[in-house]
Amino acid sequence: MRRGLKGSCELQRKRIEIEGIVQGVGFRPFVYQIARLYGVGGWVCNTSRGVMIEAEAVSTSLNSFLVDLKEKTPPLAEITRFDVVDCSLQGDDCFVIRESVAAVQKTARIAPDTHVCDACQKELFDPADRRYRYPFINCTHCGPRFSIVTGIPYDRAKTTMVDFPMCAACRGEYEDPASRRFHAQPNACPVCGPQVRLLSAQGQALTDIDDPIAATIDLLRQGGIIAIKGLGGFHLAVDACHSEAVAELRRRKARDEKPFALMVRDPAAARELVHIDEGEEALLTSTARPIVLLDQVSDHGISSLVAPGNRSFGVMLPYTPLHHLLLHTEFRALVMTSANISDEPIVFRNDDASRRLSGIADAYLVHNRRIHTRTDDSIARVLAGRPMLLRRSRGYVPRAVSLPHAQPAVLALGAELKNTLCLTQADRAFLSQHIGDLKNREVYSALEQSAAHLEEILATRPAVLAHDLHPDYLSTHYAQQRDELPRVAVQHHHAHLASCLADNGVDATTIGVIFDGIGLGPDGTIWGGEFLVGDFEDFRRAGHLACLPMPGGDAATREPRRMALSALLHAYGNDIPALTHDDGFSEQERKLLQRMVERKLNSPLTSSCGRLFDAVAALAGVRQIVSYEGQAALELEQAIEKAEEAAAYRFEIQSEGDLLVCDPTPLIRQVMEDVCAGRDAAWVSIRFHNGLADVIAEVCRRIRVQTGLERVALSGGVFQNRILTEKTFRILSGQGFDVLLHRQVPPNDGGLSLGQAVIAGRRFGKN
Ligand SMILES: [Zn+2]
Ligand SMILES: [Zn+2]
Repeated sequence: MRRGLKGSCELQRKRIEIEGIVQGVGFRPFVYQIARLYGVGGWVCNTSRGVMIEAEAVSTSLNSFLVDLKEKTPPLAEITRFDVVDCSLQGDDCFVIRESVAAVQKTARIAPDTHVCDACQKELFDPADRRYRYPFINCTHCGPRFSIVTGIPYDRAKTTMVDFPMCAACRGEYEDPASRRFHAQPNACPVCGPQVRLLSAQGQALTDIDDPIAATIDLLRQGGIIAIKGLGGFHLAVDACHSEAVAELRRRKARDEKPFALMVRDPAAARELVHIDEGEEALLTSTARPIVLLDQVSDHGISSLVAPGNRSFGVMLPYTPLHHLLLHTEFRALVMTSANISDEPIVFRNDDASRRLSGIADAYLVHNRRIHTRTDDSIARVLAGRPMLLRRSRGYVPRAVSLPHAQPAVLALGAELKNTLCLTQADRAFLSQHIGDLKNREVYSALEQSAAHLEEILATRPAVLAHDLHPDYLSTHYAQQRDELPRVAVQHHHAHLASCLADNGVDATTIGVIFDGIGLGPDGTIWGGEFLVGDFEDFRRAGHLACLPMPGGDAATREPRRMALSALLHAYGNDIPALTHDDGFSEQERKLLQRMVERKLNSPLTSSCGRLFDAVAALAGVRQIVSYEGQAALELEQAIEKAEEAAAYRFEIQSEGDLLVCDPTPLIRQVMEDVCAGRDAAWVSIRFHNGLADVIAEVCRRIRVQTGLERVALSGGVFQNRILTEKTFRILSGQGFDVLLHRQVPPNDGGLSLGQAVIAGRRFGKN
């Protein structure tokens, strides 16, 4: 029959080997369907590395088959290798899905958790469907993956779905190559699968309720705070328009000002709250469904307590069937914030929820599908016309970042804040989910578990460990514990540079502008406003922002007013002009701090750009004391309502040998002149952003003269700032620089482990 097709009659047979995320994502049924479409004979099967196909047909059909195979892959598939070789004809007339070859599926990869697909959503709201309103509907194109995997090979027995034997109907789908649920490991239905339950504030099952979801919606309407178990952990949910409920949530969660994320029904509902351009809509509706930072519209109707002091909202769309059922109501938006207490990891177990969230939640909407690996929501924004991740977690993990070269297996332990891990396997780097701030024991044990899990699912034992230069970090402590493995200590800002290079697939010496909060420098001072010249192997410091003392050390990161005082002492000496606002210091406190700085007591020096932001934010009267990391800088950025022309503040660039030091003395004086002249924070903020962008461009230009380098990598948490990043990008590009921004991993410390991994891989590979 297939020989009757038009075109060349010459029969050919090819063997195709495919690697990547091609198992458990509907790949074999997809191959089967296109083989049938083009009249191709042969077979497909899973192998230890991915999928193997033998395909026999006339050449025109075979070519069409190959084109579709490459270009029309299922949504969750990701091909990293695609090899085609000729082989001898076998005379296969039909196409079959073969049982997997015996080899253990060791290197085949696991897909990220993915939002419920359109086909499943349609069934969810179809009263005639057997899964009508079933909160765990999924198929090979969607649903939980990473969060439910307990080991490899990826099949039902190695997921938390092992608790639910399939009913006959589900098994029929699971075994039918023509079904959308063929080998969908989390396949389930109301008869055989997980169920939701509503628990009281005390954690008791509420038995008098028919429909736990409807009851949850009622409680939310009344202003209740409900802990809702999702894909990677619990959220705390309240009606975002209900100010008392939002205020109560802040009070109970002891979270004063940090913005809460919102979940809305669909993009149309999002448009009632925020402005969305084409790129932002693509990000919002992508299968990963991150929280996207978007500018608020003026009459959004959301409680002002959701994101105090902010011009943007973090908005996400529903990504589980349960979310769709909750949002399929009149709620304008729900606050959906990670269920944790201050800096602890997100709660993800039912028993843990009632214990740790006791006193916070009025009720718990739980289910009995276990979450094996907790994953927070990812956060992203569009910047310079492209998506940029600010937190890379659910929906992205465990997708790999391709490295320019293969390297030894490195486990990199990341930074102290926003910690992630990175494990490399040949020329791929796998970052863990967001683990959190390594300050307490809970987060430390999350790090230990994540390292073990990553090694397990990748079947890779590290040959070397990479950690930060800082001897006191818990991640360094972890590396020391595993003393059977060699260790490489990596400087924080060098790791940022390498991360940005690896993120862009560049393996060459580059100028790195690395602006962030704080990281230990090799000279023992605290770095954070750095111009580096370096590559995967080594770096040198080519310039930096001038050092300012941090009076009181860590206390200065919590109190921008301390940095303001430090900056004033730097710019004016003892002849400080009077402030026009109240910074809350008594005369005595001010004198004490001044003496600390003068006598260099507990006042470590820092070149941190984050601290300079703090100083300017405090001087402009924006923020004296912060309640979360980066708050002052964020609010200074947000003070700018719309772009306005204003002359840049000026740094004085001094050469110390071939080191360029950017002294903010003129800048601080200009800030004070503006503030004393009654200029508002927006004005100061615009001039400050312009000043930073100008000094970056000027220093890069001088480094280009020294070195001939034409490429600049922008990394570090400061480059989450859209105004600064876009401005700097524009100026540098205009001067002919090739500017690298982060794309696959965050510019903040969440992307640091990638840089540590490539540096350690390069150094260790040389030994
Ligand atoms: Zn689906
Ligand atoms: Zn079933």
